[in-house]
Amino acid sequence: MSIIFIILVLTLLFTFIKIRQYQIEVRAARFDKQRADIVNKIAKCISSELAPNQIITIALKDIAQYFPMYRVSYSTISPQGILSVHSCIPTENSPSIEGIEADLTIAPQYLAALKKQKILAIDDVETNSLIAPLKDAMIEGKTRAVLDAPINVKNNVVGLFCLDSASTQHWSASEIEIIKEVTSYIEIAIRQANYVIDIEQMAAKLKKYNHSLEEQVKARTAEIEIAKKKAETLALTDELTQLPNRRAFYQMAECQHSQAVRYCHSYCVMMFDIDNFKSINDTFGHAAGDKVLCSLAGLVRKIIRKSDVIGRIGGEEFAMMLPETEIEEAKDMAERLRAHVEQCQVKFEQQTIRFTLSIGVAQQPDYKQSFDSILAQADTVLYQAKASGRNKVNCTA
Ligand code: GH3
Ligand code: MG
Ligand code: MG
Repeated sequence: MSIIFIILVLTLLFTFIKIRQYQIEVRAARFDKQRADIVNKIAKCISSELAPNQIITIALKDIAQYFPMYRVSYSTISPQGILSVHSCIPTENSPSIEGIEADLTIAPQYLAALKKQKILAIDDVETNSLIAPLKDAMIEGKTRAVLDAPINVKNNVVGLFCLDSASTQHWSASEIEIIKEVTSYIEIAIRQANYVIDIEQMAAKLKKYNHSLEEQVKARTAEIEIAKKKAETLALTDELTQLPNRRAFYQMAECQHSQAVRYCHSYCVMMFDIDNFKSINDTFGHAAGDKVLCSLAGLVRKIIRKSDVIGRIGGEEFAMMLPETEIEEAKDMAERLRAHVEQCQVKFEQQTIRFTLSIGVAQQPDYKQSFDSILAQADTVLYQAKASGRNKVNCTA
């Protein structure tokens, strides 16, 4: 009987132990599942590229659900060592500490430990030497035990994930493990966000650089264009009188000649030369001669039409091409110019210089002759004018 009783008691005891073991295993399995759920959720948040702040908020909420007996908070730590509590989920015994700031430089050993260690488990702030300078403030804020998980990015502690309790606490290995895991995921999230920011900043810098390069190229091209135009103008302009030079005159006149030939339009050519210019130079000096040349250029500019082509083709020799002009019209114009010049008085150093022109006018006789040959005809009649006494207009017809 007693043996049967003993067997019964032993069986019951064995069954009880088995049930207890089973209960522990179930609890451990549930604990592991919850832990896996939290970590999975954070990993998902990271892969869906949520901002680190959003991930931290989600992690805080989940950890608070997992450890309802602890106050959970996330703080940032500035490069100057100032801790600011960014967000906090309080408990009944521990109020929210959100927004609170603390200068960690007063506890240099604690700050150094945060920089070095992955996790800092302080069972009792009252007796822990690292945290001694901050002890009173912590106890006042209802922190008696704290589990700190520093967030390290590029070898700098940028934040602190924290569980704290109003009473002393022996932090278990599984508590430490889960906080460690969560913070390493948050570190990944921050690193990833920084990486994205770095790439964006690099892209923006590149864009800015390209833009400024484009602007520089544009400005340089414009400068070159202006310089080119200036050089072209200089190459085609007579420096003294600012009239088109020989080269420019021939270019423009040849162009007009082609047009006239193509449309069977008549034109005239005029050549004029200052009479006895050498003696002007000899009498009044070279500078005075220059002024006479400029005065003549001014007079010519006043007389010519927009379509007329003018040029200084030699020292004191000028040529003009008058499109759509008959010989009579050209002769009148030459006469007007001659008369104007005759009346002109050039003042130079209290002296008055008067000068005259001899002008030769030629008309394009048909549409077969070259521009050069017509110009040569004008030159011939010009020298006839010189020979017949100067200050005259002479025409081919
Ligand atoms: P003509 O009536 O036969 O044309 O006699 P001219 O003296 O005008 O002709 P000539 O060819 O004997 O002399 C032209 C002078 O023009 C000689 C030269 O020194 C001068 N001359 C040429 N170019 C310039 C210039 O740019 N400035 C000045 N001041 N004189 C010039
Ligand atoms: Mg002359
Ligand atoms: Mg001459």
